[in-house]
Amino acid sequence: MTVNMNKLFFKYYIIITVFFFTTTALFSAETKTFHVPSSIPTNLVDRINKNMPEFLQDLERVLQSERNNLLVLVDKRHPLPEDYKPDNLHPLSRKRAYALNRNDLSLTNDAEAALQRMAQAARKEGITLLVSSSYRSYLYQKNLFNRYVRESGEKEAERFSARPGTSQHQLGTVIDFGSITDAFADTTAGKWIYRHGSEYGWSLSFPKGYEAVTGYIWESWHYRYIGKEACAFQKKWFGDIQQYMLEFIDAWKKQQK
Ligand SMILES: [Zn+2]
Repeated sequence: MTVNMNKLFFKYYIIITVFFFTTTALFSAETKTFHVPSSIPTNLVDRINKNMPEFLQDLERVLQSERNNLLVLVDKRHPLPEDYKPDNLHPLSRKRAYALNRNDLSLTNDAEAALQRMAQAARKEGITLLVSSSYRSYLYQKNLFNRYVRESGEKEAERFSARPGTSQHQLGTVIDFGSITDAFADTTAGKWIYRHGSEYGWSLSFPKGYEAVTGYIWESWHYRYIGKEACAFQKKWFGDIQQYMLEFIDAWKKQQK
C-alpha cells in the first residue's frame, strides 16, 4: 500500500528573529514536520501547502484570538472530562433581543454577548431568534442520551445525540435554535442564521452530508460560538467545515508541545 505523503505531512518554516543591540535583525529558518490529521481532505491540505506563509499567518491570528477554550475539539473521540464546567456561565434573560423556549438556559459570557449582537441584527430585519437549548451539564446529557437510547435504540441515538462528555453543549458555547427539527432550516430565522451566523462568530457544527466526518446527522439548528476570526478561517481554509478546522487546531496544539 502506498501512502500519500502530501496528505499526511506538510513542512513549514518558523522564522526566528534575533534582535541585536545594534537594532539589526537576523533571520534564520528551521524546518519542522507537522502531521496533518488524516480526516482532512487532500485537496485542502494541498492548498495549505501551496500557500503556507499566508496560512500560518491566519492560523497565528486565530490562535491568538482564542479565549476560554473556544476552539477545543469535542467529539465522539475527544470527550470533555466529566467534571468540566465553564466557569463563566451566564443565565439567559428574557430582557435580551433573543427569545427563550424555557427558563433554565445559560451560556458563557462571551457566547451570550455574541448571541445578543446576532439577535439584535436579526431583529432589525424583523426576525426573532428563539433559543431552545444551550449549556448542558455532563449529568443532563447522560440522562438525555439514555432517554434517546430507550426510545430509538443505541445505534440510532448515536446519530443525533451525544454520549455524556462528548457533547459540544457541555462547553456552554452552543445553541440549538427554534424547533430543533429539520423544518428549522426553511424558516426565516434558520435561513438568516445560516447566512449571517459567521459574521457574529457562530458556526454550524453538523452540516448536511457530513455525517461520516462529524459523526452526526445534519443539524440545521445547532450552532457553536467560535468567534468571527475562526469562522473566517474555517471558510477560507477548511471548506467551511468546523470539524476539519477543529481537528487541525487540536493536532497542531498537541504537536507544538
Ligand atoms: Zn445541539
